[in-house]
Amino acid sequence: MMAALATEGLTRDFGGFRAVADVTLALAQGARHAVIGPNGAGKTTLVNLLTGALRPSAGRVRLGGEDVTALPQHARVKRSLVRTFQINQLFPDLSPEEAVTLALLEREGLTTRWWRPVAAHGAVLAEARALLDSLRFTPAEMRAGTRSLAYGRQRLLEIALALALKPRVLLLDEPAAGVPPGESRAVLEAVAALPRDVTVLLIEHDMDLVFRFAERITVLAQGAVLAEGAPEAIARDARVREVYLGE
Ligand code: ADP
Repeated sequence: MMAALATEGLTRDFGGFRAVADVTLALAQGARHAVIGPNGAGKTTLVNLLTGALRPSAGRVRLGGEDVTALPQHARVKRSLVRTFQINQLFPDLSPEEAVTLALLEREGLTTRWWRPVAAHGAVLAEARALLDSLRFTPAEMRAGTRSLAYGRQRLLEIALALALKPRVLLLDEPAAGVPPGESRAVLEAVAALPRDVTVLLIEHDMDLVFRFAERITVLAQGAVLAEGAPEAIARDARVREVYLGE
C-alpha cells in the first residue's frame, strides 16, 4: 500500500553537524505513529523537514506517493499536510469558536467573499462548534477568550485549528508540552479520538501519552533511527532504555 507520508534517507546538516541522519520512515494511511528521542535527537529538525520549513541536505519526502521535497510549506499544506502550531502567536482575544470559524472560512476561501450571505457563515460556525465539541470543549469554553482558557485547552485549540484545515496527515508537535498533569488526560483523550482517516505523526516527550496513543514508534538518537516498532517491542529494547537512562 502507498504510504500517506514517507521519507527516504532524509538528512540535514548544520555546518559540519548532522542533526538528522539518513532517516527513512513510512506511515500507512490512518497510522498512529510517534517519534520519540532524548533532547537534541533531531525531532524538531525532522518536523521542519517534513513541513518544508527546512530543506534537507539529502533525501526525499513523499506525501501519498508524490515527491514534495522541493515544495514550500504552503504547497504541502495544500496537499493536506498540516502541523499544530503555537497558539501564543495567534489571536489571544478571540474565542475558540471565532478562531476555528476563521480557520474554516480561510480554508474554504470564504474570507475574501465578504458578500456571502450570513447564513453560510452560520453553517461554518456550527461546524466550528462541532469540531470543538469533538475535542471535548464545553460551550462556555468555546466562547471564552483564548487567553483565559486553561493551558491544556489552549493546546487542544491548536489541534482544533489544525483540524480545521482538513488534514490528511497531521503532525502533532508535543501537544502535552507544558500541560499540567491534571489536564494531560484531556489531551490524551482528544488525541485518541482524532478522526481515523487522518494519518497522525506525534512528536512527544510524555512517554505515557506516546505509549497509550501510538501503534508504531520510531526512536531517534543523535539524528538517526535507533529503533522502530510496536510499543511493546520499543519498551523492551535495551538500546532504547540505555538512551533514556542517560537523560
Ligand atoms: P530535538 O527536537 O530532538 O530536541 P533538534 O532537532 O531541536 O532536536 O536538534 C537536533 C540537534 O541539531 C541539536 O544538537 C541542535 O543543537 C542542532 N540544531 C538544531 N537546529 C540547528 C540550527 N539551526 N543550527 C545549528 N544546529 C542546530
